[in-house]
Amino acid sequence: MPDSPNAGPPVGNRGRYRFREYHVTIVADSLALPTYQAVCVTGEDSNCGATSGALLAPDELTHWIAEHCAQSGHELYEQTHRAVVRAEPGAWQ
Ligand SMILES: [Zn+2]
Repeated sequence: MPDSPNAGPPVGNRGRYRFREYHVTIVADSLALPTYQAVCVTGEDSNCGATSGALLAPDELTHWIAEHCAQSGHELYEQTHRAVVRAEPGAWQ
């Protein structure tokens, strides 16, 4: 009886475990604006650390980086895009 539910823990046979699958839909939260931020990480011993602060558009981020690069010659940036998302639970299956 290889498929008996009382046969004990199977080894190397995932098909004998049945996990219920939970479905969620991830959507952007319309009340929270996404933000973009860049930090200058140029530097050998320590990073420059200059930061754009939270910006509301990727264009502003590009502009800040271009400006900082022009002023300092720094070329390496860490860019983050932050957004709040909402998980909408689906049905158990
Ligand atoms: Zn810099």
